[in-house]
Amino acid sequence: GERLVTAERRGDDPDQSLRPLALGEFIGQAQARANLSVFIEAAKTRGDALDHVLFVGPPGLGKTTLAQIVARELGVNFRSTSGPVIAKAGDLAAQLTNLDERDVLFIDEIHRLNPAVEEILYPAMEDYQLDLIIGEGPAARSVKIDLPKFTLVGATTRQGLLTTPLRDRFGIPIRLQFYTVEELELIVKRGARVIGIGMSDDGANEIARRARGTPRIAGRLLRRVRDFAVVDGADTVTRAIADKALQLLEVDGAGLDLMDRRYLSTIALSFGGGPVGIETIAAALSEPRDAIEEIIEPFLIQKGFVQRTPRGRILTPHAFRHLGLEEPQRETV
Ligand code: ADP
Repeated sequence: GERLVTAERRGDDPDQSLRPLALGEFIGQAQARANLSVFIEAAKTRGDALDHVLFVGPPGLGKTTLAQIVARELGVNFRSTSGPVIAKAGDLAAQLTNLDERDVLFIDEIHRLNPAVEEILYPAMEDYQLDLIIGEGPAARSVKIDLPKFTLVGATTRQGLLTTPLRDRFGIPIRLQFYTVEELELIVKRGARVIGIGMSDDGANEIARRARGTPRIAGRLLRRVRDFAVVDGADTVTRAIADKALQLLEVDGAGLDLMDRRYLSTIALSFGGGPVGIETIAAALSEPRDAIEEIIEPFLIQKGFVQRTPRGRILTPHAFRHLGLEEPQRETV
């Protein structure tokens, strides 16, 4: 089934209308914004391309939005692609040679570039040069092409997924954090204005509390709650309306959905609360390991429902309480 609170992007992207367009409109990530604005000002003053930027953080925290804002603030073009889309070195070469001076090239999921493509990126990032092999066999020759000075903005869910040489070529690494409830309340209120529905303070609070620290999820919950309010004939979302809608959508009071609860209860019931290895959990849930590590776990770990240890995942007492389960007596090792 479709997962409502998933932060993964989907084909039809209604997020686009909710995107803030300037650094000053962007809510939260204060430290990232402060750093970016200094580097952007400096680059503009020097008339130079901004150094390459790497955004690291779980899906839906604003990496793409910030990349677009960076281009806008620099006053340059924004070109966008993603790791899995660039199949061959030639595809990336075409993108790079089409850039204008100081443009931003955004590569989402940059950890999924294939190694041959990544090789092309190193000299492009370092020396603004393209090293290409043209032809095959004895007729093959290498050519160097000068590129405009550009800014590569990469996005990845976890820094550890990048190879060291790639990671080292980003002068400005920026880690995004989960948002606080207060920040998400502001995002929900702004979103409500954009989609044209009234929003009470406590309605915004209820949605914010259940949005897993993630603006994309806040936006999705907001749209579903709005639909619910409209059907109910209400022109303003109150806490009661938000709560009723989110309960029907099976998003619980902590913002956990069916998938989160299935993950937690599998560890609790099938594996005695752990420790249990990620591969074993993935097999038990029939979900890819990557999806579990990148989408489900970060928030559950941050909220103290589960711990990642060298021996495997361990459920915390907090998780047992949340599930309404008795914590098993563990043997001490
Ligand atoms: P990512 O690239 O990290 O997956 P996006 O940049 O696509 O995330 O953000 C997802 C959606 O969340 C955006 O379309 C935007 O509507 C919203 N969003 C993200 N960050 C903010 C923010 N700080 N303020 C308001 N809305 C935001």
